[in-house]
Amino acid sequence: MPTMNISLPRPVVWVVLSVLTASTVGVPTLAQDAPRWTASLGDIRRTAALIPGPRPLRVNFLKFAESHRTKNFSVDGAPTAPSIQARTAFQLVYPDGHVMVDAGMDITVHDFFGRGVQEPYLSEAARQVEQAVRDARLVVVTHEHGDHVAGVVHAPDAADLARKTVLTRAQAQTLLTAPQMPEIALTPEAAGRFITIDYDRYFPLAPGVVLIKAAGHTPGSQIVFVALASGREYLLIGDVAWHMDGVRQVKGKAAPWVTEDARAVMDQLTWLNELSRTEPDLVIVASHDEEQHIELTRQQLLSSQLE
Ligand SMILES: [Zn+2]
Ligand SMILES: [Zn+2]
Repeated sequence: MPTMNISLPRPVVWVVLSVLTASTVGVPTLAQDAPRWTASLGDIRRTAALIPGPRPLRVNFLKFAESHRTKNFSVDGAPTAPSIQARTAFQLVYPDGHVMVDAGMDITVHDFFGRGVQEPYLSEAARQVEQAVRDARLVVVTHEHGDHVAGVVHAPDAADLARKTVLTRAQAQTLLTAPQMPEIALTPEAAGRFITIDYDRYFPLAPGVVLIKAAGHTPGSQIVFVALASGREYLLIGDVAWHMDGVRQVKGKAAPWVTEDARAVMDQLTWLNELSRTEPDLVIVASHDEEQHIELTRQQLLSSQLE
């Protein structure tokens, strides 16, 4: 076989090299090159105005259990000082009904979190959360962890509750394939009963209410924006931070038992920290920060009773 000797003229070699260089630069190959998480409050406000109708009148919450964990787990670098993680559910009250943000959990799921240690479970409050979930027009969850979702998954009337509960595709997927505990696992049949949605950035859920995609703490995590009829605005951030010091100091958790997308969580903490300085009237609420809930209740920005 004759040997072919290809020799390219110099300009051609140069062009080939330039193309190779150009295609190497600018093509993300590492996770660090993936787009950073961010959100626009202006876009969120516009999305909140898309669904016509009266906006919510107030935001209520109720603590139904506690976890006692030293603060160093909630905020990286914090001292090992005692800290109460309040387990809560939120209620958005409209003139003609209410929407629940998070659904509480039964005592079996609560005991899972204690890992053999008995921690306070407030049975009467938990019963009130159950009732509020039953009476709700619509239920949505900040993320697919047991203390937020069990009330609509691991409940005697779960099949009925699912029909008025919105799960994101990512939340449903985690509950199907990698639930936090066996009690909240979904079968494909059970998953099919939920109102499953998928969206890229913002989803208009109800008048004045927007879901903001915020994967990080879990794949299905989202932040709930609420604009009341009064004009007061809230961001219910779920577990982006367990304690608001995480937002104030832009510090993530140091809890070996949770697997987060740390980079996305840091982006979310950065965004929230900036908003806390540029939007002083916006109320940023963490699901588990007992100290913050007491302060917001005192300021009458949250009511600590469901209705
Ligand atoms: Zn969580
Ligand atoms: Zn939680």
